[in-house]
Amino acid sequence: ALGNPLRPAILAAARSPRMKSAITRAPVTRSIVTRFVAGQDRPAALAAARTILDSGRSISIDHLGEDTAEPEQARAALAEYRALLSELADQPEATVGGVRRLEVSVKLSALGLALPRDGLRVAREHAHALCTAAQAAGVWVTVDAEDHTTTDETLAVVTELRADFHWLGAVLQAYLRRTEGDCRDLAVAGSRIRLCKGAYNEPESVAYQRRSEVDASYLRCLEILMRGRGYPMVASHDPVVIEQTQDLVGQVGRGPAEFEHQMLYGIRDVEQARLAAEGDQVRVYVPYGAQWYGYFMRRLAERPANLTFFLRSLVTH
Ligand code: FAD
Repeated sequence: ALGNPLRPAILAAARSPRMKSAITRAPVTRSIVTRFVAGQDRPAALAAARTILDSGRSISIDHLGEDTAEPEQARAALAEYRALLSELADQPEATVGGVRRLEVSVKLSALGLALPRDGLRVAREHAHALCTAAQAAGVWVTVDAEDHTTTDETLAVVTELRADFHWLGAVLQAYLRRTEGDCRDLAVAGSRIRLCKGAYNEPESVAYQRRSEVDASYLRCLEILMRGRGYPMVASHDPVVIEQTQDLVGQVGRGPAEFEHQMLYGIRDVEQARLAAEGDQVRVYVPYGAQWYGYFMRRLAERPANLTFFLRSLVTH
């Protein structure tokens, strides 16, 4: 959570190559990483996805990768998504009430946005190719939100691609001061918007810093999306957010196929199951792959208890 005083330091470490090599080589890390990451390869991700689908929840699978600096790596990321999509195409239960239960999430920086040359063009082309493959497989796509320097480009790419792929989802981060406005602009018919608090280290000029401010912004944004005409994807583990979602759904008269809860793999699993059992749609974000470092560090930064657990096991190992 943003109230964690160590959050900026951990998020800085999340981008440090030296810390990355130290932490990924610590023998104990692997066992803790498996709490948040479904596995290193596609079969592991598909096995985790199967268990989740069988429990009545939906999935969004993310092949871990970000800040790609080599064109070859960006092409490899696209190839992995294509392979994943062709395997997902064979899964039986594709839709419930018009909502696709199978989704992938992708970061434009994994597809090349951060390349030194032509990053935006490369990422846009790769994202278009990925959406074409997803369409053929009957799978939806949501483009993850990264740090604020990428927000304009990311939303522009999503808006452009939505001309061809109307189901393409965007992510808005409530900690950004701009997001209430983005919610108003994007809460249009058919638009799928994932609302999250935001997981990066952002300056005060663009982002609320205090936890209470972020939480209040989230609730304002949630209300705009719920009263709007789009399809809200409420990505939060926060009990206050979940309760508020249920209240708003009642007030505006949305049915179970007109919004969804989203949570991360391995976090509040019991709550995920409870919501699904009550008839709400719950989608679980399932990350996999070898590039788990940045994702893992952001999860540690969210919760002092996770960090303490990790540090203690490093010391006592
Ligand atoms: P918090 O206030 O952080 O947490 C509320 C409660 O949830 C905690 O008290 C605890 O009980 C539980 N909890 C939260 N985090 C953890 C954890 N790591 N370990 C154990 N328990 C925890 N961020 C982006 O910037 N871009 C994205 O594209 C993006 N996509 C996301 C997709 C999904 C489906 C989800 C659920 C989150 C996504 N996030 C993304 C991360 C998000 O921005 C937050 O950093 C994260 O969800 C924690 O915020 P919270 O709303 O759960 O509330």
